[in-house]
Amino acid sequence: MSSAAPLARSARTILVVEDEAPIAAAVAARLRSEGYTVEIAPDGPSGVERSAALHPDLVVLDLMLPGLDGLEVCERIQADRPVPVLMLTARDSERDLVLGLGVGADDYLTKPFSARELAARVHALLRRVERDRTEAAGAPGGVGQTRHIGDVELDPTTRRVTRDGALVHLTPTEFDLLAFLAASPGKVFTREELLGAVWGYDVASGGRTVDSHVRAIRRKLGNDMIRTVHGVGYALDGADAQAELAR
Ligand code: CA
Repeated sequence: MSSAAPLARSARTILVVEDEAPIAAAVAARLRSEGYTVEIAPDGPSGVERSAALHPDLVVLDLMLPGLDGLEVCERIQADRPVPVLMLTARDSERDLVLGLGVGADDYLTKPFSARELAARVHALLRRVERDRTEAAGAPGGVGQTRHIGDVELDPTTRRVTRDGALVHLTPTEFDLLAFLAASPGKVFTREELLGAVWGYDVASGGRTVDSHVRAIRRKLGNDMIRTVHGVGYALDGADAQAELAR
């Protein structure tokens, strides 16, 4: 645990969207015991509503929900503002299906899981988002500089992405992945390297998590956005990518 974690954690609000009351209660109890403020929403519509009202720092989101399913909820809460989402699935096959869709969850956990494991994932995800904000705030010439990839502009300070001047909503992880690739145009990264650099911890679904996020970025910004290097990994093409100093 990093020394900054307890301070950061005490101020964080987490929304748990889960219709199975015992699971929701166990997750909430564990997260509260670690200093988070936690609220529970028992179905999809209330999840969307609570997220808009609460502005949580992270959402734990069950896939199978009454009213609206987790995919729909994920899309709606992310349309509003980027918020890290940890998605819960009932089976690995369900998780794989969701990964294939590239819906913009930042991490996945398959039931049954321990409350301890869930808390560890929550810490890791929040640490990553906070680290990115800190890095973006400082470091001119580093990750803090505005980057242009064709007609796409990435501003790490505000974490905003525009294409032809129009705002495009990327999830926190999609933004991090794109910003990381854009920082080294032309360089090919393996899935493992990307997991280590962007996620910073072991994701159970491994390389497929990377694939899923690449798919989501391409859907939002165009198929030519990230180049697949077969048998190796991914790269942003150097010819199209250019960095310019933030003004
Ligand atoms: Ca459920």
